[in-house]
Amino acid sequence: MSSKPATHDIKFTKLFINGEFVDSISGNTFETINPATEEVLATVAEGRKEDIDLAVKAAREAFDNGPWPRLSGEARRKIMLKFADLMEENADELANLEVIDGGKLFGSMRYFEIPLSWETIRYFSGAADKIRGATLKMSSNIQAYTLREPIGVVGHIIPWNGPTFMFSAKVAPALAAGCTMVIKPAEQTPLVSLFLAHLSKLAGVPDGVINVVNGFGPTAGAAVSTHMDIDAVTFMGSTEVGRTVMQAAATSNLKPVSLELGGKSPFIVFDDADVDKAVELAVVGNLANKGEMCIAGSRVFVQEGIHDVFVKKLEATVKGWAIGDPFDLATRHGPQNNKEQYRKVLSCIQNGKKEGATLVTGGGPFGKKGFYIEPTIFTNVTDDMSIAKEEIFGPVISVLKFKTVKEVIKRANATKYGLASGVMTKNIDIANTVSRSIRAGAVWINCYLTLDKDAPHGGYKMSGFGRELGWEGLEHYLQVKTVATPIYDSPW
Ligand code: NAD
Repeated sequence: MSSKPATHDIKFTKLFINGEFVDSISGNTFETINPATEEVLATVAEGRKEDIDLAVKAAREAFDNGPWPRLSGEARRKIMLKFADLMEENADELANLEVIDGGKLFGSMRYFEIPLSWETIRYFSGAADKIRGATLKMSSNIQAYTLREPIGVVGHIIPWNGPTFMFSAKVAPALAAGCTMVIKPAEQTPLVSLFLAHLSKLAGVPDGVINVVNGFGPTAGAAVSTHMDIDAVTFMGSTEVGRTVMQAAATSNLKPVSLELGGKSPFIVFDDADVDKAVELAVVGNLANKGEMCIAGSRVFVQEGIHDVFVKKLEATVKGWAIGDPFDLATRHGPQNNKEQYRKVLSCIQNGKKEGATLVTGGGPFGKKGFYIEPTIFTNVTDDMSIAKEEIFGPVISVLKFKTVKEVIKRANATKYGLASGVMTKNIDIANTVSRSIRAGAVWINCYLTLDKDAPHGGYKMSGFGRELGWEGLEHYLQVKTVATPIYDSPW
């Protein structure tokens, strides 16, 4: 069964600044490619520093003098709910854009990621009228309270592996808080954010509140992180670029930064685990979204008693993983997002082979057209191999054998990253010990990839800091002001 649209009708390719679609000042453009066919999909306006300046000017004006931060929380909530409704009404079109621009599977977009995106907008719309400060008990005759105020103009720098969801996870809390913003999507997936900007305008988000400037990292991205009139930056992407963004923030106006970076998460399977469930989750935790997930459980630690059975079942499942047209609802595995990533993943696989890991299945490109890579399993992986240390961001499962709880905790933590983790066991004591001991922003016990709008997501160590989603996801967009005044002749 296929959900392929008759034609790809791409309506929006310009920059979205101050409520209008406009060409870039230089007139420059770049091409965006369909990774399943390698065909050019569209020519998109390429923003640079001067376009970011214009977008920031619009966002600043909207923040300083526009209605958005001054509306009641209830009014902001209504507009956000309308925005979510429009996303729902346009779910097919959003899913199409995700497929043609990023090689995502139509089914998982249409029935999971895009619904999660509009639900995220609805979730944070509920916060818009519940942002509160506190009453403080200072010395006896001082009355004081705190105000939680929007931080101002926010810059969002977004990666390519989940454009709709990442847009929603960043824009929703910022809107609820009363901020205005400039979004710099990844150059590999420029189309979704433009369509979402169009929907936000239809929903009634005032001009200048949401601005979208496509362009490249070192030009448009750097113009966001170095900008003197952006009050906070959220960055989602690689650890390497995250470091650059933080340096830029420090050397410009000391804007606060939140960083959601890479991962190399452990997925730990103990001897007593339900082996079929563990195999299913190891596969989904590594092959969903063709492995292009920061939270992939890419180090699969399996206890020695269950190891051989696990590997046999894993091999059978992965060999049955349907590769093909991402519009076909039966397809489980589409193309990598872009050529650079395709080459990088193939080179990581080569390194695994060279370093002596056992290749069980996969290990190369798939088909004649598109950036397809076979789902790949390596066993006999050791902690010192590059496939156990570096983030691959592709469909590669590395299996590592272990003996004891103490040993696996130590090995699971022996990484510069700390984004997520999984533990498969029926033993509550082991589950509790491991979840307290793992240094990562999430521990999923007998489940994996359980991201939700209410669950704060973020990293320990070099996976970044700051939290997205959940109530904590609002924090980056608010600041606290203490207001104090003496009370003369206080009765108590
Ligand atoms: P990337 O770091 O190359 O790019 C991310 C964004 O940063 C893009 O918009 C890019 O244009 C921009 N950018 C690049 N150079 C810049 C610069 N010098 N200044 C400012 N901006 C710049 O990452 P990517 O390849 O797009 O995404 C993959 C990475 O993102 C992986 O490491 C993945 O783990 C990570 N990621 C993390 C999370 C999370 O929640 N922790 C989520 C998704 C992706």
